[in-house]
Order: sequence, then structure tokens, then C-alpha cells
Amino acid sequence: MKTEQVDVLVIGAGPSGTIAASIVNKAGFKVKIVEKQQFPRFVIGESLLPRCMEALEEAGFLDAVKERGFQEKFGAKFVRDGKVCDYFFADQFTKGWTWTWQVPRGEFDKTLADTVEKMGVPVNYETTVTGIKFNGTDSVTTVVDKDGNTSEISARFIIDGSGYGRVIPRLFDMERPSHLPPRKTLFTHVVDTKRSMDDEPNRITIIVHAEGIWIWVIPFSSGITSVGFVGVPEFFNKVSGTNEQQLRALIDSEPYLRERMKDVEFAFEPRILESWSVTSSSFYGDGFVLTGNVTEFLDPVFSSGVTLASVSSQLAAKLVIRQLNGETIDWQKEYTEPMMQGVNTFRSYVNGWYDGTLGTIFFSDNPNPEIKNMICSVLAGYVWDTTNPYVRDHDTALTKLARLIGLEKKMNESGVTINAN
Ligand SMILES: Cc1cc2nc3c(=O)[nH]c(=O)nc-3n(C[C@H](O)[C@H](O)[C@H](O)COP(=O)(O)OP(=O)(O)OC[C@H]3O[C@@H](n4cnc5c(N)ncnc54)[C@H](O)[C@@H]3O)c2cc1C
Repeated sequence: MKTEQVDVLVIGAGPSGTIAASIVNKAGFKVKIVEKQQFPRFVIGESLLPRCMEALEEAGFLDAVKERGFQEKFGAKFVRDGKVCDYFFADQFTKGWTWTWQVPRGEFDKTLADTVEKMGVPVNYETTVTGIKFNGTDSVTTVVDKDGNTSEISARFIIDGSGYGRVIPRLFDMERPSHLPPRKTLFTHVVDTKRSMDDEPNRITIIVHAEGIWIWVIPFSSGITSVGFVGVPEFFNKVSGTNEQQLRALIDSEPYLRERMKDVEFAFEPRILESWSVTSSSFYGDGFVLTGNVTEFLDPVFSSGVTLASVSSQLAAKLVIRQLNGETIDWQKEYTEPMMQGVNTFRSYVNGWYDGTLGTIFFSDNPNPEIKNMICSVLAGYVWDTTNPYVRDHDTALTKLARLIGLEKKMNESGVTINAN
């Protein structure tokens, strides 16, 4: 059987795989990516956050992405019962990127993969990892190509960026359930001819459709817009028919979308995804690290996925380089702990979204601009800036603020004036 020798094998050519591969390659190591599918391939996750621009920049991908003319994104708009709460990244508390993109991921991911290939990293498409044997930190990975040919790749280190494929957790029994309840989405891309050009398309819109049910609206520069309903699986039982009939009925039931998307053309039969929240027992082991979705994926509501994928691979790549250069790395302290800081901050916001805490804050009558800017930094993906009280105290700050807003409302209604914020 053919055996190839590399320093670092990267599994998956999504954002986490390509960013990691580029950074390790730049340090002079021999890197190879194996990717199960042919690109471009469809994957969900189209709204990026400004923090991921830092990782794209370090990987050397920014210019190639800029050339694609993707829709620039400057903020996020939340809508509930016709009331609008706008966040603009330019206002954020943390110093950092104030914009990013809304991207059809097939094209975006192909741009990153083509760029990393041009940098000298081979990407073997339609090549699936089927087994890995570790001998200390060295490994031998078995891959099968599209013609069914099996070969082996020896590596000094593996970066697993296989996303929903979750290669190493599945092979080594590291899959763990998430503590978030199961949720489901029904989504498609639409030809959005009635998009308002005054108010859009420069940001994502999140519409509260009903308690615990929300809709994403992500306009692309092509005139296509991504639309998806998200909620508990039971919510979708109230509509029947094909996926298209169900999505049309749901759109028709949402006043904010009804007129704009009446009889809109769907670019593809609406798709369903469910129960995406998952985690792993460890994010690293002897000779490997997990990056991106393979670590932990929470929920789509704050578009954290690609940012966590980018930042984890940026961090992991630098640690892999140091380890291959002979340093001893404390992976728990230098990788898992910082990643969990980011994941746990987003977790508090995801929980706050579904339990109504964030609704109280977003749609309060007199939001405090300073606090709003601190929350804006989280929405921009700057969840590692612990000088921001709404990052540092993420597990308590939102509930305290919502409680004060509730109290202020009650007092004002009873004629006593206080300012909660
Ligand atoms: C409903 C929903 C909406 C979302 N919306 C957003 C959003 O708006 N913004 C956002 O940032 N994130 C969003 N996400 C999350 C986003 O999809 C992921 O976080 C992101 O794609 C992770 O990138 P990645 O590089 O880790 O993995 P991926 O992009 O999934 O790439 C992994 C690659 O590995 C390959 N692979 C898998 N198995 C193997 C194997 N055995 N051998 C070789 N290759 C393999 C796959 O083919 C794939 O190309 C959403 C998720 C869901 C479920």
C-alpha cells in the first residue's frame, strides 16, 4: 500500500482546516489536507463575525476573499413584534475589526482551499479518512479515495478540522452530548428581489418569530438571501407538506417576511438540519488536536461557528508549530482553557437568547449605550476580551441587567423613575 510522509496531516478543508494548514505551512512544515468532498460543496454557516478576520489575515487569506466581492457585513439587526434593535460593530467596546462578510460557504470555503493550495499545501479532495493508528505522537492514517483506492499517510501531528464529520471523536469514542436541548432548522436560499436596499443588505437580520423560535435572514451580494427558521423540533410539526410547502407556510405566517418573500423563488428545495449541538471529551491528545466544529458546536443564533473554527485553528496551528520545534505544550492550559472561555461566553448568550433574557435587553426602551457596546463586542466575536465585563462576567451579567431592566419597567409603570442601566 502507498504510504506518504508529512509533518502535519489536516483532516477537512473547511475554514478550520485551511486556516490551520496555512499557518503551519508558513512555518516551513510539510502539510497535507485530506477532504472527503469535492469543492465547492454546500455547508451552512454563512454569517461571519469580525473576529474571524484576524485569523483569515494571519492565514494570508484576506486578499483572496476580498477579491470575491462577498457582501460586507457591518452589524446585526434583531426584530421582535416590529421593534428593531440594531448593533453596529463599529460601536463595539473592544478594539478590533468592525466588519466582516456574509458568504455562500461553498464559494467562501473553496476560495480558502484554493488559496492554501497555491501556497503549496496539497488538498486531496474526495479522500475520506477511515482509520488512524497512533504510536506515541506519530500516526498512520488510512484514507480511501473516490475510486476506492486505500493509502496511508504517516504524520508527526494531526489537526482534525473535519467539522460535522467529527473524525477523531468518532474513531476514539470521544463524542459527548451537549447540554443544550435539541433544535431543528428548515432553510433555503431565495432570489430576494424585494430586498430593501436602504435598510439591508449590510447586516444579518434575526427575527423573533415566536417564543424560542427565530429566523435568520442573510443577504448575499448576488441578490440571493439565506433564510432559515430555527426552533424546537415540535414547532415544525404544526406545518405539513413538503419542505418547500412547510417553509412557504412559515414565511407566510411571519409578518416581517410575508410581503417581501411572497412567491419568492427558492434556489433549492429547503433542507432540514437538527440536533447539531455536540461536544468532545477532550480537545487534544497525543499527536492530535481538534479544531472548529469538532471541538464543540453550540447553536447558530450568534453566528459563532466559523469564528470559533477560525480562532481555534489559528491557536492550535501555533501550538503545533511550537511542539514540532521541540517545546513541551500544556494543551489544557494553552488550548482547551482559552477555547472554553470563548465557547462558554457564547453559551451564556445562547442560553440568554432562548430563555428571553437577551430579548429583555435587546428590546428595552432605554438601552445604556456603553453596555450595548460591550454586548456588541460579543456579537462581533470578541469573546476573549476579559476587560469587557459582558465577557468576563458572561454567566451573571446578562441576568442581572435583564432583572434591573424589568425592575425599572415596573417602577416606571408605577410612577417611580429609576434608571436601571
Ligand atoms: C443551522 C446552522 C446554522 C449555522 N449558521 C452559522 C452562521 O451563520 N455563522 C457561522 O459562523 N456558523 C454557523 N453555523 C456553524 C458552521 O456551520 C460551522 O461552525 C462551521 O462550518 C465549522 O467549520 P469547520 O471548518 O470546523 O467545519 P466544516 O466547514 O464542516 O468543514 C469540515 C470539512 O471536513 C470534511 N470531512 C468530514 N469528514 C471527513 C473525513 N472522514 N475525511 C476527510 N474529510 C472529512 C467535510 O467534508 C468538510 O468539508 C451554523 C450551523 C448550523 C447547524
